Amino acid sequence: MACIFDKIAAGEIPSNKVLENDNFLAFHDINPKAPIHILIIPKKHYENFQVMDPALMGEMTKFIQEVASVIGVDKTGYRLVTNCGENGGQEVMHLHFHLLGGTMLKWTDDHLNDPKDSF
Ligand code: 5GP
Repeated sequence: MACIFDKIAAGEIPSNKVLENDNFLAFHDINPKAPIHILIIPKKHYENFQVMDPALMGEMTKFIQEVASVIGVDKTGYRLVTNCGENGGQEVMHLHFHLLGGTMLKWTDDHLNDPKDSF
């Protein structure tokens, strides 16, 4: 069964697109957590980063760099995040990178537990 990002990639669910080519799509997150919050996906379904094709990841790197240039954060900086699997906090099981920017981001407690609790 197609996941929600498969449907967005196919145009069956509308999205606010930033950039697109044959293999990748960048669109605005529906629930932004920063002034700029863009999701970048491969159109082909990969559940998460752990199973991503490393050769395609090279092309995806170039695409992400283009997205950063198009939205004008290539010089000011941005954060790139991918949540991988359950402990990574992944909710949509289709590989996606969050590109966050437009402000000075802090490293919040949301992202980190006390290291003593981790083992
Ligand atoms: P995850 O927690 O899996 O790393 O992030 C999933 C992200 O997808 C969340 O930031 C959420 O707001 C976003 N999202 C979920 N459903 C939709 C949707 O239908 N459209 C858009 N544009 N973003 C979505």
